[in-house]
Amino acid sequence: MQNNPNTTLITAKAPVNVSTHGGRAKCLQRLIRLELPVPTTVALSFDAVRQIAEGHLPDVSAIVEQFNKDTLLCVRPSSEDPDWGGPGAVLNIGMNEIRYAQLSNTLGHDAAAAIYSRFVQSYAINVARLDPDVFDEIPNDGSDSLLAMLQAYEEETDERFPQDPREQLAAVLGSMARAWDGTSARLLRQAKGAPADAGLGLVVQEMIPGFGKGECGSGVFQLVNTVTGLPQITGRYLSQSQGREALGAGSAALYLEKDERGPSLEELAPRAFEELKEDAALMRVKLREEMQIEFVIGSGKVHILDGVRVPRSSRATVRIAVRLAQDGIITPQEAVMRVEPNNLTELLHRQVNPESERDVVGSGIAASPGAATGRIVFNSADAQASAARREPCVLVRRETSPEDVRGMHAAAAVLTEKGGITSHAAVIGRGLGLPCIVGASAMRFDTKNQTITASDGRVLKAGDIVTIDGSSGEVLAGAPDMLEAALDDAFQSLMAWADAERDIGIRVNADTPEDAQTARNFDAQGIGLCRTEHMFFDPARLIVMREMIFAETSEGRAAVLARLLPMQRDDFTQLFRIMEGKPVCIRLFDPPLHEFLPTSRAGQRELAEALDIPVSDVTRRVEEMGEYNPMLGLRGVRLGVTVPEIYDMQARAIFEATLEASDKGDPVVPEIMIPLVSARREVELVKARLDAVASAVRSERGRDFDYRLGVMVETPRAALRANEIAPHSAFLSFGTNDLTQMTYGLSRDDAGRFMSAYIQKGVFPEDPFHVLDQDGVGELLKLGAERGRNGNPGITLSICGEHGGNPESIAFCREAGFDYVSCSPFRVPVARLAAAQLAINHKMGDQKSSLAQMLWKWRVRNRK
Ligand code: PEP
Ligand code: MG
Repeated sequence: MQNNPNTTLITAKAPVNVSTHGGRAKCLQRLIRLELPVPTTVALSFDAVRQIAEGHLPDVSAIVEQFNKDTLLCVRPSSEDPDWGGPGAVLNIGMNEIRYAQLSNTLGHDAAAAIYSRFVQSYAINVARLDPDVFDEIPNDGSDSLLAMLQAYEEETDERFPQDPREQLAAVLGSMARAWDGTSARLLRQAKGAPADAGLGLVVQEMIPGFGKGECGSGVFQLVNTVTGLPQITGRYLSQSQGREALGAGSAALYLEKDERGPSLEELAPRAFEELKEDAALMRVKLREEMQIEFVIGSGKVHILDGVRVPRSSRATVRIAVRLAQDGIITPQEAVMRVEPNNLTELLHRQVNPESERDVVGSGIAASPGAATGRIVFNSADAQASAARREPCVLVRRETSPEDVRGMHAAAAVLTEKGGITSHAAVIGRGLGLPCIVGASAMRFDTKNQTITASDGRVLKAGDIVTIDGSSGEVLAGAPDMLEAALDDAFQSLMAWADAERDIGIRVNADTPEDAQTARNFDAQGIGLCRTEHMFFDPARLIVMREMIFAETSEGRAAVLARLLPMQRDDFTQLFRIMEGKPVCIRLFDPPLHEFLPTSRAGQRELAEALDIPVSDVTRRVEEMGEYNPMLGLRGVRLGVTVPEIYDMQARAIFEATLEASDKGDPVVPEIMIPLVSARREVELVKARLDAVASAVRSERGRDFDYRLGVMVETPRAALRANEIAPHSAFLSFGTNDLTQMTYGLSRDDAGRFMSAYIQKGVFPEDPFHVLDQDGVGELLKLGAERGRNGNPGITLSICGEHGGNPESIAFCREAGFDYVSCSPFRVPVARLAAAQLAINHKMGDQKSSLAQMLWKWRVRNRK
């Protein structure tokens, strides 16, 4: 049999490989090499199983002859990656009336009946494909129940239960091979990243009965806790059992180590327990992984049937990888490669405990991860009042506008009816690390009467307690149990190792000192985008902004803006100080001005009062400023050109803050970025004014400073004309939110309504606001980068749209030679890890793990 590549007796030297026989077969060979007590096992290759599925069985007698006569067998799946699944194991093959009589003599009636009934049931369900209900009424013990099962089998199939072990084995192999080929199994594994032609291997193994005289039983054993990854002997053991029955046995099962909660294997069979502990430790070192052992104790003797990677939570994944590296078992580089970047997201936020009950009342787009519980409020004022009472609340809006930012600051989570992944609520939510669900359009939002109606008819009112799970996009009624964020020492070590490998910069999109502080905590290398308009929504500033909008002349506007100057200067000074010399890129004012005007009658009355003008003047001005397409209207640099006083004030605030922050520490060199540019002349005009303000500040203060001026490339024209824009810019930063919007002609605030239909129908493979469209928008990025470099060879290139934190976009930007990516604060660690993995992969020449496969895995995770 050793010479047959398709059916191979597993020995230390037999030709068994993961790529031909699957992970389980290879793992068993490793255990045999470690001289662990593994029962005799034969591996069937992917080819053999493929042929079986086509009706060509291997020589079943030859397989059976590898085992002692009368040995019972089991068959388990062995796919290349255990995550891809496979058909369930079938145990006790070979059981028939003769064996039953023999085992009744040697092990006793009950044990023989237990083994035979388990086989009949499993064969009936997995091979004869009978409905499991057939056995529901039959109790699972004793010879009466065995007879009832055999009878039920014969009634349903009109056949006697097969008695020939060879016939049984052939039927089991055939059914497992065909199950792998079934459509649902295929779709399921492809969704987990398996290639379309992924193969299945099978292992046929000698059964060690966990039944009989002396201490007999089975269990699972591992050295770490599955949730925390910390050292802790974990698992269960059940006397007189087999397979993984101990795990489902509740209080009947024993703990492994001595435990106050109940009896343990350590007390019952101390030698077996010690042996298992040593075996698990050996496997950890030699297999370079935390392994879960499936074991049987047969008359006091330990047998190891299988070893699988310990199943683990995200935080355990990090802890296990780091401990293996700290113990010198794997290298830090390998530890970095073992954690999927998107897994980190779960560590950075509170999560709904996976073990708690979920009462789902609605769902939408998972726009900002993490979970929070609070009472429903329907407006920002109520959110602030709730925060003042120290009562967590969930802000519910149809959609949010800049006016809601203060409410978002006060809320624990946000839920909106409208919007997509780059809508206002989503962007601000991610920036604040606030769990957020947008586009929950299947729920009915009645903001006037302050209710939301779930699709099952339940009505939620203001004050009701809900939980927003921004990681899954589900709205839950009540307050389920939570898991806290885990930025522990293991996380910090992993991040430090990642940074040592990384070759692309990671900055953060941070608008406020709090964001900047979060970014420092996550070790961002600077601020890549500070959206300054968010600084104007504080109530004290909002009123000044409104006054400025109502001023009739340039001088009038400048005079009002002078009142905002000290506040802006203070904002920037704080940012510079927090970032301690790391670059800070400040984007000049971007949104259309009318976003600052009140839309409600009451708000307009309040403004009229504050400005001491008739309310009709306010209403007229609001109407005058309305635009059909505000996102394509008077915003960004267009305001800079036509209402230059705003940029003048901001430039002065930046320069004065530069000098203030440079008083202590190294000189600050601010970066100033112009939004929504589409023509070179826009840059020239703004640059001339900024230079004039800089000169004025220099001469007033008698001190010198530098600044870097850059352009945000977020219109297709800016990308196309980058060669003529670049000579006036120290850097180009691609704003892929607007660039995606304008390339597709697709509103980022409204696309959520039909995006899922578009994806379902295969028009778009993914939401392009979520996953960078490398074909279209990506081409503009490449073209803009190339033309930008032609126009200014030393130019710095970056991306600062929401795509910046997405591992696939980072791969794209790294390939295109960008200097850095900038992303929301809580994406920074994900981006650092993804960038490190790309660099390591590159260094390894794509040998050990193919880049395409890595990106595919990221994409699959990202979609979940
Ligand atoms: C962008 O458009 O990509 C961007 C970063 O700017 P904003 O999201 O503020 O429009
Ligand atoms: Mg933009």
